[in-house]
Amino acid sequence: MPISAPELLSAAYSDADRTIDLRRRLHRHPEVGLHLPQTQAMVLEAFADLPVELTTGTTTTSVVGVLRGARPGPTYLLRGDMDGLPVHEDTGLPFASEVPGAMHACGHDTHVAMLLGAARLLAERRDLLAGQVVFMVQPGEEGFHGARYMLEEGLLDVVPEAPVSGAFALHTISNLPSGSISVRPGPMMAAADQWQMTVRGRGGHASMPHIAADPIPVAAEIVLALQSMVTRRVDVFDPAVVTVAHIEAGSTSNVIPDTVFMEGTIRTLSPERRAAVVAGVRRVGTNIGAAHGLEVGFVHEEGYPVLVNDAAAAGRVLAAAAELLGGPASLLMPAPLMGAEDFAYVLERVPGAMAFLGACPPGLEPEAAPGNHSNLVVFDEEPLPAGVALYAWMALEALAA
Ligand SMILES: [Zn+2]
Ligand SMILES: [Zn+2]
Repeated sequence: MPISAPELLSAAYSDADRTIDLRRRLHRHPEVGLHLPQTQAMVLEAFADLPVELTTGTTTTSVVGVLRGARPGPTYLLRGDMDGLPVHEDTGLPFASEVPGAMHACGHDTHVAMLLGAARLLAERRDLLAGQVVFMVQPGEEGFHGARYMLEEGLLDVVPEAPVSGAFALHTISNLPSGSISVRPGPMMAAADQWQMTVRGRGGHASMPHIAADPIPVAAEIVLALQSMVTRRVDVFDPAVVTVAHIEAGSTSNVIPDTVFMEGTIRTLSPERRAAVVAGVRRVGTNIGAAHGLEVGFVHEEGYPVLVNDAAAAGRVLAAAAELLGGPASLLMPAPLMGAEDFAYVLERVPGAMAFLGACPPGLEPEAAPGNHSNLVVFDEEPLPAGVALYAWMALEALAA
């Protein structure tokens, strides 16, 4: 490495006020989805005094920055996502959301602030870089496929002579020890698909079900059979989670309804398992319906793919975290998380890794802290400079002159 760990870390900590100030300004003004004009304006302003070439998205409010090193070389991508969630913030923080019904409850404000901090550190050390750093600031991570739009707009070819050849992202997590870095090689987060089912019966009087066609017991049978399918048809070492999260039917106690509507998710860790379980949910639903003479409609909506970390890249993250923050802060995750992340689209195209930065607030046990997406979640700001340094380290190492 062209720079020592203590030197980089102390540079990040000496710029902590700027990082935290940007984080708090973003936190006050969360926006949800693919179109985040205020957030984009803050990001552009934060980049303005840096020698970074900026382009903005055409289909979304994404921002892509390119920092050119002193010498030519490969191109390495760092991602920060910038969208909030449709959650009403109840933390009581002095810099809590000023937008009713919207909150940075997944810590994406911290990601942008850390990414911008890293951009500044790297811009001040261009002589150490042989190649380009791409800063990917994306909207719409929370279910809107923001990364996919950016890829479709040519994100990986933003430096035409040197397409992106490696990528790294950090995600802040309130349920992990503050200042720890967690990562694993291979599957890190699940594919998450949504599905909807409509069991179509024929309504009637509750006293005469034989004249009607009651969809409710059929739906109940489907709910249970889906769980049997998961335990009996899915290898536990290539797992799946099928959840029925929403059921709606009927209007009163003495009327058999026409239909039952159900929806839920399917989470898997391999493309093969994913295809098999989607087919299985459809098969169980439609065939249980058929067994009772009812028609069952099934709709599958593809969500994010499995997020797979490149083994070498995950190893570099662990080594970097140990170097920067000390061995005990560098944690090899024993198992993936079944949540989903659209950085998976980037890692389908280039080798790289996503890691978690623990940010449990002081005075709480990580397991007891309100989690990401909670209206009460609080992220410790103390480790943000450590995240800045890790982002910068990953780029400096990939592009060491
Ligand atoms: Zn989230
Ligand atoms: Zn997130």
